[in-house]
Amino acid sequence: MSIIDKALKANHTYARKHDRKMGAHPAPKIAVVTCMDPRLSDLPGILGLPQADIDVIRTGGPAVTEDVLGELVVSTRVLGSKEIMLLNHTGCGFTTFTDGELNAKLTALTGDASPSPMRLFSFKDPEENTREQIRKVRSHPWIAKEVPVRGFIFDVETGLIREVHQARKDVAA
Ligand SMILES: [Zn+2]
Repeated sequence: MSIIDKALKANHTYARKHDRKMGAHPAPKIAVVTCMDPRLSDLPGILGLPQADIDVIRTGGPAVTEDVLGELVVSTRVLGSKEIMLLNHTGCGFTTFTDGELNAKLTALTGDASPSPMRLFSFKDPEENTREQIRKVRSHPWIAKEVPVRGFIFDVETGLIREVHQARKDVAA
């Protein structure tokens, strides 16, 4: 049985104890942008917040793309999130290659260069990545200045998160 077929079967069991109040409407209190990495999946556990309070926006890295910015606008302007957390992590798979390398590798592997150059949002330094994300989100004109935007790195070894502060030059700017 495929993993998806197994999941479909398990869903019948889940539905029996599903909280039907959740069907009413979403009421998130915080938007968390984090990586697709499965080690970041237990956000209620990692952050000690109820699942219903967290709008989870996930991309590889995570990359703060135009789509992610749109989701943050909706989360804060439409759905009611009051804070934005950018949650990076150590040991990210997106630091193990560069966009150029992977484009070349997949072109060679498939013999088809037509998707190239595909933007994969690889990066090297999670701290720099976090600072760049804060800059991008903070400077968006549709994300209200009253909404705190803070960046963090989750340590996959210890399970602890630590805050990444803006570099001095950004604070002065
Ligand atoms: Zn990652």
